[in-house]
Amino acid sequence: MSLWFEVANCDLKHKSTNYNSSVAVNLQIPLRKISSINPATGAILREFESANEEDIRSAVMRARAAQPAWNDLGVQKRVGILRQFQQSLLERKAEVADVIVQEAGKPRAEALTTEVLVVLDTARFLIENGYRLLRDESLPHGNLVAKLKTGRLLREPYGVIGIISPWNYPFSIPATESLAALVAGNTVVLKPSELTSLCALELQSLLHGAGVPKDTFQVVVGDGATGAALTQSAIDKLVFTGSVATGKRIAAIAAERLLPVVLELGGKDPMIVLDDADIDVASSAAVWGAFVNAGQACLSVERCYVQSRMYEEFLFACVAKTKKLNVGHGADRETDIGPLINERQLRIVESHVEDARNRGARILAGGARYPELGRNFYCPTVLADVTHEMRIMREETFGPVLPVMAFENDDEAVRLANDSEYGLAASVWTRDSARGEKIARRIQAGTVMVNDAISCFGISEAPHGGVKASGIGRAHGRFGIDEMVRLKYLDIDRMPGMKKVWWYGYGEKFAQQMEGFLDSQFARRFSDRIAGLIRSAGVIRHKKI
Ligand code: NDP
Repeated sequence: MSLWFEVANCDLKHKSTNYNSSVAVNLQIPLRKISSINPATGAILREFESANEEDIRSAVMRARAAQPAWNDLGVQKRVGILRQFQQSLLERKAEVADVIVQEAGKPRAEALTTEVLVVLDTARFLIENGYRLLRDESLPHGNLVAKLKTGRLLREPYGVIGIISPWNYPFSIPATESLAALVAGNTVVLKPSELTSLCALELQSLLHGAGVPKDTFQVVVGDGATGAALTQSAIDKLVFTGSVATGKRIAAIAAERLLPVVLELGGKDPMIVLDDADIDVASSAAVWGAFVNAGQACLSVERCYVQSRMYEEFLFACVAKTKKLNVGHGADRETDIGPLINERQLRIVESHVEDARNRGARILAGGARYPELGRNFYCPTVLADVTHEMRIMREETFGPVLPVMAFENDDEAVRLANDSEYGLAASVWTRDSARGEKIARRIQAGTVMVNDAISCFGISEAPHGGVKASGIGRAHGRFGIDEMVRLKYLDIDRMPGMKKVWWYGYGEKFAQQMEGFLDSQFARRFSDRIAGLIRSAGVIRHKKI
């Protein structure tokens, strides 16, 4: 059966569903349809049959069969294919951006910068560094007893990597992870979010067009149950990006069979604005950081803390800038903020803002839907006087909301920033970089930026990943490549005709000589070392057994 097909004139309503693992183990998954929908207009772009467990099983089998040949090509040839992919993406950037705008709703400028550019630069990094990072490496060692051995590190592909990706960066997230997996010699089975299958199929078309064999990179479109089936399948490693709730389910299933996983999960990133920051710059950053992609970014500014001396002035600047933003359809070149992905996401945002309002927060801008524009639009919202008792400061909102709270001193800022179950990224704003760095070092997060926000995702060399509930493992750069390989230690003894000192044939004499040897190696005083060396004489001898 084909893994996906178009269904014409079907009026199924879109539904985002999370399936738990017990559904996944059940072999009888009924036929399910999923839809790709333009979130700005509600128009159905395409409908697919959701891949079932059998589809996943056969995709993984084909990926496994294809893997040795892909690995045997060698890194240099795979890098050549990557170069071709990069050039094709460059040529087709406008087309790819159009698909992203249509399916995810984001402004075209963002489709080009946060999706296409990120992928082109990831390819650049892998082209420049793939060979160096994947080649064998000699490992000198200092153990005198084993001095005749040489050690080498080999980086071997896992085999088949399963990738499950979310809808908010529907091109750059699966692409950056897939490129790292492929260059390392793995084959990939990708399950994108059911909301953004078309973006993943664009990626597939580019990779196949560049010379990646069909079974080496496969997209299986489907819903949460398809993702659960992929987690249960015979993959060798899973790279998951999504919510903490789904990440925990996946971790539990993976633990059962010791499946290695990378979990890139949610965030509640704090922004700390110190009293010596440039208010104009920091307020522009806060507004962009909270509203980019309509706030649906894992690295969004989700909490903003401002030193009390400049609190009101900062709020004033944020509100003025927010009121200048254009909310509209992503395809309109003047649009700054597009729609949210769906009604479910809107309801979460509404409930967080409502909770804040009821508990005493001031709504200085926005705070409501924007029905004139379409069904999924929400006005960019600035909230003042929020507290940590409010959901808006504790749970991931994932919408265009900037909640701002005052603090008195650096210690309080650090305490507030760390008072969260999440730890993806954070930012500190100050003219004093030493002060900024001091605070950055105390914040519990995978990344802390001083005087910038979010952009770390576009630095292909930098590790991306979180601490605490924000996940396990790292993507991007050499750290992302490390996640795609098994490290093998190759130990070669250059004296094949010699028995080892530590083998049988112990006896009293050997024990005394060994004590002397330990002193000769590790005693602090030089004289003890010499004495030990004398006592150890003869320890390296032929063993009796
Ligand atoms: P979800 O966890 O709902 O979904 C993520 C992916 O998992 C989707 O492909 C989804 O399929 C699939 N899925 C759903 N249920 C299961 C299951 N039981 N087993 C396996 N796969 C399943 O997250 P969202 O798509 O809503 O993404 C938003 C979240 O992702 C936010 O929390 C955000 O912070 C986080 N994120 C983290 C990033 C990071 O790098 N740390 C980057 C981007 C986003 P389907 O959509 O078809 O239901």
